[in-house]
Amino acid sequence: MAPKLTRSSSSEGRKGVGPLIPPLTETQRPLRQQVFELVRAAGLIPRVQLAKDLGVSPASVTTLSSELIEAGLIEEVAAPRDNDAGRGRPAVALGVRAQAHRVAGMKLSDREHTAVIVDFAGKLIADEAIPRRPGPMSLPEILETIATLLARVCAKAGVERTDLAAVGIGLPGFVDCAEGIVFWSSILAERTVPLAEAATARLGLPVYVDNDANLVALAELWFGAGRSLSDFAVVTIEHGVGMGFVMNHRIYRGAQRLGMELGHMKVQLDGALCRCGQRGCLEAYVADYALAREATTALNWGHKESQPINVLLESLYDHAKAGNATAKSIFRRAGRYLAVGLSNVINLFDPSLIILSGERMRYDYLYAAETLSEMDNLAINTGRPRPPIEIHAWGDLLWAHGAAALALSEVTEAILSPAAREIAAQ
Ligand SMILES: [Zn+2]
Repeated sequence: MAPKLTRSSSSEGRKGVGPLIPPLTETQRPLRQQVFELVRAAGLIPRVQLAKDLGVSPASVTTLSSELIEAGLIEEVAAPRDNDAGRGRPAVALGVRAQAHRVAGMKLSDREHTAVIVDFAGKLIADEAIPRRPGPMSLPEILETIATLLARVCAKAGVERTDLAAVGIGLPGFVDCAEGIVFWSSILAERTVPLAEAATARLGLPVYVDNDANLVALAELWFGAGRSLSDFAVVTIEHGVGMGFVMNHRIYRGAQRLGMELGHMKVQLDGALCRCGQRGCLEAYVADYALAREATTALNWGHKESQPINVLLESLYDHAKAGNATAKSIFRRAGRYLAVGLSNVINLFDPSLIILSGERMRYDYLYAAETLSEMDNLAINTGRPRPPIEIHAWGDLLWAHGAAALALSEVTEAILSPAAREIAAQ
């Protein structure tokens, strides 16, 4: 007797379960790209080691590395043998062909604009900085600034603009990196600016833009403490407060690429007014304009209001160092709010490390022992140690380096991604 079909075993209304993952997700890169990225990460690596690390046959590595050498992306380098030095054939390792491409990275900020040029292996060739005049810029003004800065850093590096493969630009604010749109930035007068497209047209080069805090996280991931970490946070304190978060070795951006706005996390209902137009945001208590606002009121510094904000902050810091109780309390209060923000990051994401970065990290009151113990009190208590907090006051050059890493990864993706191979095969 044939088994009776129940409703669930008929084809009618059958639905699948489990996540609908596209066949090739972001993390499952083609093997050719994985070979290239491992060579770049290692600096120099023998083929045998590549095969071992990737868990593939030496024959596959030989084929793929030959393709990459033919394409001019990697090269063979004679490496000294460990055991029989001086005898027989020299061992050969693979390395990135540094002169294959050059890219520029830029950080546009409220204070000054910084640019670097790096080679395909990520090595710095030249850097340059130009001061900026205060106040938000129009789109034509920012394009002019970008073109001027790029011309100057190219001259310093002894390269033509047309020698560059791409430009990465970091700026503060709400930036959609995939679409190249800046929805809001303190350095732009207009909202919803298609900056990547406009700069690409102006420079005649592919331009990629991103939020500056994401690029500091990218710099840590490429060049710094984050190279070997899968999950970590970078919190930046500058004119505003930002966060870049690395999840599973990649920058986490959110569904619309606008996530991780730590500076606009609410820490007080109906609290202090923020630059974004809302109230109670973390940065309205921690960023430099928040400190300056407190200083002009509490220390009766109304006459200093016309001073540049960094001069005013230096003066506030000097007063705190000299023992002025009011000046000290201003930094301490900011530090307590920072503790609230950091404890929320720990409770939400459980990172293995939190890096504090940016110009304001010179003001050690912000992360005094009190701040850290306050943070410990607010983080959930599991009995396990909280993540270490590291201070990296690397300066703007690091941020520009992160922008260069963005350009490098986009160039690599364009050359090695499956889509690029399909186009090349047509
Ligand atoms: Zn805000």
